[in-house]
Amino acid sequence: MNKIDVLVIGAGPAGSIAAALLHKEGFVVRVVEKEKFPRFVIGESLLPRCMEVLEDADLLEAVKGMGFQEKFGAKFVRNHQKADYNFSDQHTQGWTWTWQVPRAKFDETLINTVAARGVPVSFQSTVTAIKFFEDASSVTTVQHQDGTEEKIEARFIVDASGYGRVIPKLFNLDKPSTLTDRKAIFAHVKDIHRSKSDEPNRITIVSYAPETWVWIIPFSDGITSVGFVGKREYLQQFSGNSKEQFNTLIANNNLLQERFSEAEFVFEPRTLEAWSTTTEKFYGQGFVLTGNVTEFLDPIFSSGVMFATVSSQLAAHLVARQLKKQSVDWQTEYTQYLQRGVDVFRSYVVNWYDGTLEKIFYAENPDPEIKKQICSVLAGYVWDETNPYVFDHAAALKRLARMVNYQSKHS
Ligand SMILES: Cc1cc2nc3c(=O)[nH]c(=O)nc-3n(C[C@H](O)[C@H](O)[C@H](O)COP(=O)(O)OP(=O)(O)OC[C@H]3O[C@@H](n4cnc5c(N)ncnc54)[C@H](O)[C@@H]3O)c2cc1C
Repeated sequence: MNKIDVLVIGAGPAGSIAAALLHKEGFVVRVVEKEKFPRFVIGESLLPRCMEVLEDADLLEAVKGMGFQEKFGAKFVRNHQKADYNFSDQHTQGWTWTWQVPRAKFDETLINTVAARGVPVSFQSTVTAIKFFEDASSVTTVQHQDGTEEKIEARFIVDASGYGRVIPKLFNLDKPSTLTDRKAIFAHVKDIHRSKSDEPNRITIVSYAPETWVWIIPFSDGITSVGFVGKREYLQQFSGNSKEQFNTLIANNNLLQERFSEAEFVFEPRTLEAWSTTTEKFYGQGFVLTGNVTEFLDPIFSSGVMFATVSSQLAAHLVARQLKKQSVDWQTEYTQYLQRGVDVFRSYVVNWYDGTLEKIFYAENPDPEIKKQICSVLAGYVWDETNPYVFDHAAALKRLARMVNYQSKHS
């Protein structure tokens, strides 16, 4: 058995970023992936903060070549009210655009580019067991599609297995999230009426009912991703299978009905639920967890791929230092750093579902400076502590909502 430097579990964005950066640092890396690519996964609206990571991993050009739909902002719609956030108008100096991507193609582009650089990637190969040793090295058991089993010896493991949660499951590290369980019903549709709607270069988030919202994410090929997110009890009141529920939800809203009632499905509506979860720790002797394995909050502000890429970028740089025998303070440099960003988004998620952010978004005459600061959070710049809506996130949002309330009563 030849010992490699780093085994990466999972070939989603988190796995590809980790593999690309560790390979760039000169380490012997290998990726194992359970599925055959291209494979479907939800999570199609990226945030500008991802672009910095793609650039660092030398993957930006490969993605540019795919002609994905450019995304310049996020628009929130409630009945006739609109709040448009353009990333070019933000507080933080950073990327002002990103993409909306069918993930099957995006993820395949990333991992194929990494593989073309000489990183071996085994598809349809599932990690079933891991044994760690005192020196932090490990032996991982992988079950291949043809029924054969392989043992891979590595100096370090990056677990980027997303919803597979390989290390948390094998070592009982899963911890329930404090967020409410929610459900999504979503589909890809042929968006034949897109030209009559607003331009496609942003995600549109429609407030549908209390604690229920819809994403509209147009792709460059004329297909659009549409998804309803709400409490399970709310969505279950609509009878029938997922397709019937989806159609009823579309029919009950004028804006959606005009655009999507005749739309042909590319795939019939699917559901996902109870996705919020976390783990006891983000790292351990011989491993680090990245991407969705660490913590996934909620789809509302499209933070998933941003956290997946940023966590893997940071993890890769720290793993490289550790393997070069330099000291790494994983708690401070990894867990606490990531947690600061996750906590910012957690505040925004909580304040979205309790109605605070809607008050802010739809305020009359919003303060342009504050709007820029909130826009930076929506662009994924959640570590910029010069931004009061990052630094003091929870209190700042509540304060602002009180001010908006006061102004609307006294104007
Ligand atoms: C309803 C919903 C909507 C969302 N919308 C958005 C959005 O608009 N924008 C956004 O940024 N995020 C969104 N997300 C979040 C997004 O899906 C994830 O954050 C993102 O896919 C995480 O990437 P990842 O690389 O960590 O994991 P993944 O992309 O899930 O990749 C993990 C890979 O690991 C593989 N794997 C699993 N188990 C094993 C095993 N045992 N052995 C080998 N390989 C294994 C899997 O097959 C998979 O390919 C949404 C999530 C939900 C639930």
